[in-house]
Amino acid sequence: MFFGGALSPMASPQALQQTRSAFRKVPADDVFLLDTAAHPSQFCRVVEGRLSDLWYAELFVERPSFDPEGVAIPQTRNYEVPRTRRRLYSDFCPPAEIRDIHISVGLDRGGDPSSVKVVIGFRNQEHPNRLGNTLLMGVRPESKETYLEVAAMLAPLVAQLHQLSLTGVVVGPQRRAVRVFINSDYPSVCSTTGHKGHSASLPCPMCLGTKSPRDAQWLLHALFGIVQDLSRTHPPRTVSHIKEMRSAYESVETPDGLGLATHLPIEPPPVIIVPPTQSCPFLFICLLGLRCGCCGLLLRL
Ligand SMILES: [Zn+2]
Repeated sequence: MFFGGALSPMASPQALQQTRSAFRKVPADDVFLLDTAAHPSQFCRVVEGRLSDLWYAELFVERPSFDPEGVAIPQTRNYEVPRTRRRLYSDFCPPAEIRDIHISVGLDRGGDPSSVKVVIGFRNQEHPNRLGNTLLMGVRPESKETYLEVAAMLAPLVAQLHQLSLTGVVVGPQRRAVRVFINSDYPSVCSTTGHKGHSASLPCPMCLGTKSPRDAQWLLHALFGIVQDLSRTHPPRTVSHIKEMRSAYESVETPDGLGLATHLPIEPPPVIIVPPTQSCPFLFICLLGLRCGCCGLLLRL
């Protein structure tokens, strides 16, 4: 009776079965194959579905931005799709006062047989890195994971992320902006941001810290001092510099032509442009032995 009695299709087991089978045909789990990898075809729908599940299960966790003093900035406005159908921000970094969702993009290697996976994480929940809380976005056989391979593998995802960033995501009663983080190991972060890697003179993809000396040299430096002051805070990298490099390389500039002081070891075009503060490389600090502004605290710990 709640559903309108015998006249309602909701009351009919047959109608329920038909509805269920129709839902199964919704292409949320479909994949399309490219030379580079296999990818799900309905990325926006899958993301919205995952976040809606979290919202209605009351597991959705708000993630505000913080000002330089460490105070949370309240999110007071909903996202509105621009009438021009052009994105208001091209770096996946919406204004702090707009309600947003946090997505991380990472590459993961391993398994049997070994493969490289593109993994999406949803940061608006507890334990976002737990396997069941992530989403497999692409998979290809194991390789050396060169810049060109990573760029080709991520290209379809980047296009979908741009679309998602334009439309925003409806979660519960609100439309929210999309903030993207790069959440990978050091080589993958370098490949995604166009950074040259550990051999560069400025090896950190987040700040402009220089290489640290070896232990013996460090001791000598501590005893006798050095010309270069390694204890100073190095300036962070900026998203405007990464955008500048993308357009420079798209207009066929070369790193040598630009000079070290300009390219700052961003040597191929960045695949995904996000502020360096939204890059979260794993363990590279320990591997590189860097001593720089953004890593100093962790080194002391
Ligand atoms: Zn750093």
